[in-house]
Amino acid sequence: MALNLVMFGPPGAGKGTQASRLAVERGIPKISTGDILRDAVQAGTELGRQAKAVMDAGELVSDETMVGIVRERLERDDAASGFILDGFPRTVAQALALDAFLEGRDPLVVVELAVPDDNLVNRLSKRRVCARCGAIVGPQPDVLPAESATCGTCGGTLVQRSDDREDVVRERLRVYHQRTSPLVEFYKRRPSFRSLDGSHGPDLVARAVGEAVDTAVGASG
Ligand SMILES: [Zn+2]
Repeated sequence: MALNLVMFGPPGAGKGTQASRLAVERGIPKISTGDILRDAVQAGTELGRQAKAVMDAGELVSDETMVGIVRERLERDDAASGFILDGFPRTVAQALALDAFLEGRDPLVVVELAVPDDNLVNRLSKRRVCARCGAIVGPQPDVLPAESATCGTCGGTLVQRSDDREDVVRERLRVYHQRTSPLVEFYKRRPSFRSLDGSHGPDLVARAVGEAVDTAVGASG
């Protein structure tokens, strides 16, 4: 049975890492919207050209174009035995289009990695980046004041990314919840929907994701 999976998770929850791990484990592609858009633009497909024109104009790619691009990607051979979608669907219209596309295929499994906002703010605000080599350090519970901490790899100064500042993280989380809650409402009554506690360490979360996916595939629907 193919594993057709959609993963949701707020910024900082480790969704990308978990999606990549599971993709390697199960031998199926991890498909992130950013990557597909880049691929489609690079491949110069009709939809890729449309998307590029829209992005060049500084606008958001429409649901219709996004759906077309994802469909093109899911029709490739390597997605026949399953896929992990990361960053799609973003709207209920996209979710409906995905359902229509998957009709007659194995059911969609949806996994949400839930982590309390305060926990994410705490995680991200403790993260530091090396100003010299770009290595990401942390989150460290006992991180030194940023200006006195140095990179373990190159000895460079560790700094906080502006994206990781508390006010910025809170705003990203607000936008995430606003955008995602209609989708969670859309999916949560299905027997193949799972919401997991993503606040544990990556190995524990990976095990929980694996188990959730295996039971959800059986649940179907
Ligand atoms: Zn460094």
